[in-house]
Amino acid sequence: MTMIKQYVTFQKNSGISPYIWIILCILPFYFIFQTDSTLKIIVGILLTIVFFILYRIAFFAKGWPVYLWTFILIGISITSTSLFSYVYFAFFLAHYIGNIRDRVTFLILYFVHLISTSISINFGIIQQDEFFLKQLPFVIVIWIAVILLPFNIHNKNEKEQLEEKLEDANKRIRVLGILEERHRIARDLHDTLGQKLSLIGLKSDLARRLISKNPEQARNELKDVQHTARTTLNEVRKMVSSMRGIRLKDELVEVKKVLDAAEIELDIEESKLANVSLLTENILSMCIKEAVNNIVKHSGATKCSIFIEQTWTDTIITIKDNGSFKKKNDDEQKGHGLIGMKERVEFVNGKMEIETEDGTTLIFTVPNDVKQTDKEEF
Ligand code: ATP
Ligand code: MG
Repeated sequence: MTMIKQYVTFQKNSGISPYIWIILCILPFYFIFQTDSTLKIIVGILLTIVFFILYRIAFFAKGWPVYLWTFILIGISITSTSLFSYVYFAFFLAHYIGNIRDRVTFLILYFVHLISTSISINFGIIQQDEFFLKQLPFVIVIWIAVILLPFNIHNKNEKEQLEEKLEDANKRIRVLGILEERHRIARDLHDTLGQKLSLIGLKSDLARRLISKNPEQARNELKDVQHTARTTLNEVRKMVSSMRGIRLKDELVEVKKVLDAAEIELDIEESKLANVSLLTENILSMCIKEAVNNIVKHSGATKCSIFIEQTWTDTIITIKDNGSFKKKNDDEQKGHGLIGMKERVEFVNGKMEIETEDGTTLIFTVPNDVKQTDKEEF
């Protein structure tokens, strides 16, 4: 499977149409059959087959075998240039060398290949081989390709690698940010809640012991307990509001920007929400963010609509696009987006539904919060 994946990326990276590859694969046989000696024809066919086999092997090689295979391939290329005036293997080699990641290896093999190809082309011209001179314009094209193509591919690969690294670094920064935040929350919880709760424990224990001997003092202690509980509650509230996450409103503004940049038309219908806790709002914001990310990344849609509505019992968010849902095969790497959204809404007793006809529709339903103010007050 990895072979196929690598093959696909190889095709993507080349930036060269597959038709050109097919022509280049058939071309050597045309050249070989121009000669009339049977021995030469057999040698030619064998050389070509060996070239293609080694070429594939070389693509998966690492370390010193890269040199070995490349030198053999260059040898075959020179041989076929001198035997059949066939210079086009040089094109394959240019492509292969461009895909070598290691900079030193790349440069060494680039120059070896450039020099050897130049020499064999010049040799062909000096020999005044008629067949060779006839295709001179193409030979020159190949020679230019040998000079430029490897650098093009190499630079493109390097850029892609850098982008990957950047994304990795960003991911790591995000994870570290979350860890840092967790530590801060743990510290705050310990400092406020831990201390106050143990004070409440001590005081109520004291009150229990005093209740028969000294009811007056017991009453005072209980008053203290009540007071401590109230201040703790206030502190917890403050803490929670300082952990302010992303509000739906802010997220919608972000989402608008993203869709604008991707040139996807957005249609939002939102009604005013009540009884939605901060946590639920954060979770819904994250879901909208990921759903829109997926639309931009996978759907190929031109339109996206977001409906936010509320019934007596639930808040419902529907996100729909007019693209097409891309099913993944079993062996393809699965993302975390869809699963993550599902787990998050289930955490607040909600559910996520997905429909994949006519684009993708995601429906998030989360129960409203029951107002708890009466219960919370002492
Ligand atoms: P991650 O979210 O972890 O970066 P991901 O986006 O590939 O990776 P998911 O968000 O779980 O993973 O999506 C799973 C797959 O479902 C996607 O790879 C894509 O094939 C398909 N998919 C999801 N949303 C859409 C959509 N709106 N349009 C088309 N295909 C989609
Ligand atoms: Mg995703």
